[in-house]
Amino acid sequence: MKLFDYERASSPEVATRTGAAADASFIAGGTNLLDLMKLQVMTPGRLVDISRLDLARIEDTDDGGLSIGALVPNSDLAADPRVRDRYEVLSRALLAGASGQLRNKATTGGNLLQRTRCYYFYDTSSACNKRAPGSGCDAMEGYNRILAVLGTSDKCIASHPSDMAVAMRALDATIVTLKPDGDRRRIAIHDFYCLPGDTPEIETVLEPGELITAVELPPMPDGTRQLYRKVRDRASYAFALVSVAGVVTMADGKIATAALAFGGLGTMPWRDTRVEHLLVGQVPATALFEAAADELLADARGHGSNDFKIPLARRTLIASLRELTDTQDR
Ligand code: SF4
Repeated sequence: MKLFDYERASSPEVATRTGAAADASFIAGGTNLLDLMKLQVMTPGRLVDISRLDLARIEDTDDGGLSIGALVPNSDLAADPRVRDRYEVLSRALLAGASGQLRNKATTGGNLLQRTRCYYFYDTSSACNKRAPGSGCDAMEGYNRILAVLGTSDKCIASHPSDMAVAMRALDATIVTLKPDGDRRRIAIHDFYCLPGDTPEIETVLEPGELITAVELPPMPDGTRQLYRKVRDRASYAFALVSVAGVVTMADGKIATAALAFGGLGTMPWRDTRVEHLLVGQVPATALFEAAADELLADARGHGSNDFKIPLARRTLIASLRELTDTQDR
């Protein structure tokens, strides 16, 4: 590990100003960053410790939603009675991620910002446009089993690893930030992540020093059906090959609203509203769900080892929709 300066921020405002330096990184739980530093994938010259800031509360909002402080540990968030009751998909996604020890340390803000688990990203002897822009991408022709089939570019096919962010995408979360100049931003999660394009090293719209302070969830109407289905190589402590976060309401035997987000498939927590539009107003049926899967995967592209994700995603989406809507037909 390379030498670095360490500073504990006394307030969010101080953190943003210190964190704006080109070589600075925020650290909270450190469950991803410390691994990356040990491997010299990330080599910040200055660590700004934000873990003692007062950003670890979960509070009801005036509109009936929930505000989650950026430093709320994943385990506390998953166990919160309001989350379990009103945002079951989020609680389930959190509990499907990592291990108990990691969830105790990992924070809400950090989870949103965790880096891909692409093997070549972590191996500094490999070519990786995300780690070293312009160096190439050894994953394209390499072992890319865990990587993305949607939203890729010819520069990068890295998948986003978070379960929590997938649930938050389905829930239409808003990310609240503080910038070094004192401005606050409210960023819809829909606008938060960047596709890799020609600049895979840029993963979010956050500016230098901009600190996530909270994530807000909108109120949920009564009667929503929620599900998080995760397919992985082993029963726990494994990243998603494919996951589905679903939030659905039914009325008069038809699908009234549908929000579906996907993990393991995309270069960002994936959501495709064309799929949802296809479902809304329809009587649930397996043929309809097959059409939804066709829509979702129309532009999917495998790179060899990850080709299997496309039919796996199809089956996982159909099974998830059948469960969400109690559909029994064949
Ligand atoms: Fe790097 Fe992305 Fe290629 Fe993986 S897929 S080696 S992260 S450029």
